[in-house]
Amino acid sequence: MTRTVLISGAGIAGSVLAYWLSRAGFAPTVVERAPDLRRSGGHAVDLAGVAVEVVERMGLLSAVQDARVRRDSVVFQRRRGRPLRMPRLSASVSDRHVEIQRDDLVSILYDAAAPNAEYVFGDAVAAVGDAEEGVSVEFEKSPPRTFDLVIGADGLHSRIRRLTFGAEDRFRNDLGAYLSVYSYPNSLGLDREVLSHVCADRAAFTYAVDGGRRARALLLFREGRTPGVELSRAQQLDMLRGAFGGIEHLIPPPLSGAETADDFYFDSISQIRMETWSRGRVTLVGDAAYSPGPAVGGGTALAVLGAHVLAGELARAGDDHRAAYERTERVMSAPVAQSRKVGPSALAQLVPRNRVAAWCTPHLMKLLTRLPRSVTLALFSLQGSDKQTLEDFSSETVG
Ligand SMILES: Cc1cc2nc3c(=O)[nH]c(=O)nc-3n(C[C@H](O)[C@H](O)[C@H](O)COP(=O)(O)OP(=O)(O)OC[C@H]3O[C@@H](n4cnc5c(N)ncnc54)[C@H](O)[C@@H]3O)c2cc1C
Repeated sequence: MTRTVLISGAGIAGSVLAYWLSRAGFAPTVVERAPDLRRSGGHAVDLAGVAVEVVERMGLLSAVQDARVRRDSVVFQRRRGRPLRMPRLSASVSDRHVEIQRDDLVSILYDAAAPNAEYVFGDAVAAVGDAEEGVSVEFEKSPPRTFDLVIGADGLHSRIRRLTFGAEDRFRNDLGAYLSVYSYPNSLGLDREVLSHVCADRAAFTYAVDGGRRARALLLFREGRTPGVELSRAQQLDMLRGAFGGIEHLIPPPLSGAETADDFYFDSISQIRMETWSRGRVTLVGDAAYSPGPAVGGGTALAVLGAHVLAGELARAGDDHRAAYERTERVMSAPVAQSRKVGPSALAQLVPRNRVAAWCTPHLMKLLTRLPRSVTLALFSLQGSDKQTLEDFSSETVG
């Protein structure tokens, strides 16, 4: 009998998993809380190392490369003096590296997975009852169903994690900062440059998206106090105004854009640390299991790799999901541990702690763009998935 798998979350990990599971002979159902994928939002994310290889094995490398972000300079706005313009540095930080808007990547992965998976939008899991013979699942809207396996790919604030392992704060390690991303009309006439302003505890970036019709803002700020994750949008906007209101004349993106954006994203920069990601027939993948922190730890590449490994191990293990879950945790432990180390240091570079460090940031970046490529690779090839080798599961099927 075909084995049924419920995946909660149609983000990066969810669709990579659905694609590989259906190829291996499973019947995946993906339930996504959002009503659809349009304007799912988000900043540019990085695919590097073996994550690029996974995408290539899915036959999606050219689609991903066609959609990649093309920007050629970073302009640092400064309090005094002329703006500092420098060539982009990201191309030099990994041997295989693609920078792509999260919403573009999500829809490319969805298009690849959807023909062979059932997708249910606008619904969410309300309860899971794990038993020897299967997992009974109640939904917020759809009638209850039973699945052979349930996998939480529902991000940093995973509901499957909460229902299966307990409250989020047991596993969340806040790095003391927040990020917000939103789109607004391209009133600044941005083209292929990134405008930025970096000062103590705050950093603001903006660049054109949607062929120049709109621009996207990325704001990061330190905030020691963590007022919990269940903030309303009004509270999130208050925090943004508190952090950037006093320097609004210096930062390139308008704060007012955050109020009306249809793709407003706001989250704490937090890591998820768990001793195990699996219990019974339920497991977690991507940010739900091991978020290294949005914007700072290579979480997208890790989610792609983790979903590929989990699907491959499930296909190889046949009926023995326990063995597959154990092997997945073993294979992923090194890249996950590595990615955890990256977050705090990347955050320190992105959002300097004081004025001296803020002054140094553009100068350091300029220096890095002048270093030989072998040196920048050695310095920055830090993302957890970069050093992993990829197993070939293509001949594994359960059918
Ligand atoms: C809207 C959005 C914007 C983002 N923007 C950025 C960004 O700008 N910078 C950055 O570094 N990271 C961002 N991230 C996080 C980044 O995408 C992930 O860190 C990374 O790609 C890992 O992917 P993932 O698939 O594990 O999780 P995610 O990409 O977070 O995907 C999780 C999916 O699960 C869905 N979901 C959540 N709860 C439920 C539920 N209860 N039931 C069903 N579905 C649920 C979400 O809508 C989402 O589609 C964003 C995530 C989201 C959801």
